[in-house]
Amino acid sequence: MEETGSTIKQRQKAVIDRLEATFRNNRIGHAYLFDGDTGTGKEAAAIHFAKLLLCEQPMDAVPCGTCHACRRVSSKSHPNVTMIEPDGQDIKKEQMSSLIMQMTRKGYEPGRKIYIISRADRMNVAAANTLLKFLEEPEGEVTAILLTSSYQSILPTIQSRCQRISFLPPRREEMIAKLVDLGITATMAATVTMMTADIEQAKLLAENDQFAHMRKTVLKLIEASDRNVNEALLFIQSEWVPIVKEKEDLERALNLLLYAYRDIVSMKAGLQSEMTFPDQQQIFRGLSMKMTYSQLSASMEAVLQAKKKLYSNMNRTLLIEQLVLNLQEGLMLV
Ligand SMILES: [Zn+2]
Repeated sequence: MEETGSTIKQRQKAVIDRLEATFRNNRIGHAYLFDGDTGTGKEAAAIHFAKLLLCEQPMDAVPCGTCHACRRVSSKSHPNVTMIEPDGQDIKKEQMSSLIMQMTRKGYEPGRKIYIISRADRMNVAAANTLLKFLEEPEGEVTAILLTSSYQSILPTIQSRCQRISFLPPRREEMIAKLVDLGITATMAATVTMMTADIEQAKLLAENDQFAHMRKTVLKLIEASDRNVNEALLFIQSEWVPIVKEKEDLERALNLLLYAYRDIVSMKAGLQSEMTFPDQQQIFRGLSMKMTYSQLSASMEAVLQAKKKLYSNMNRTLLIEQLVLNLQEGLMLV
């Protein structure tokens, strides 16, 4: 479902106000970096801004939405707007080179050229350096919009050449209340709102049986890490591997695991924060009393290390086995 200009303006008023102001004052930047969590509307805002820049009859810095230009931006068929996203694992140098070729070629319509780079943090170094040269010598009316949910993963040299525009997530409590209104259980709402800031995505996830199964499996992994090595490894082979197959599944599962430890830490510290797993209060309370702060931080560190290895093409079964061994080792810390 495409988000309309008015809904994105409701959700990200400060961002849209700022973009409209640059348009009104005729101070449109050469490069913007939109950063914010998944589901905060970065792409919708980029499209809205592209429309504004190309609209044949904008009214008070708002695109009309009905002219030929606006309609083609909406349907992603305007020749002046190019969208780039990772080709497989990352954004490659060839993608950047061909983009720059396109930008300098003729055959465009009059007016500004805009390119939108999704998941810009996935640019490999060669791609980033190619883009950098282009950002340093902008030719004519060209605007780059880079989108990322991981600002710190963008090369500093790129960061410094872009205007940073931050997208704030909606408040989690509000999202939970909305999901409960839509018929999702409070427990599942608490979990999925940690995974995404997008209400539609959150609802889909909450209704997804495979996700519910994964959630259970992650909780079992915590128990398994508390048992002996053989039992833990058996659990991985028999229950984990069949459920957590793809890289994306594993990323999601590791995030859930990290949030579980976070719940346990905040219980131990007596914080009144909204839990990710409110249904696990009793078990987590037990663990929070049994585990020391250094054991908990060693466990979280082990999960973070595993997350780092996710994209190194390491065998996924091996990765999770190593993690469980590290978690068990952590429990032996005194
Ligand atoms: Zn228009």
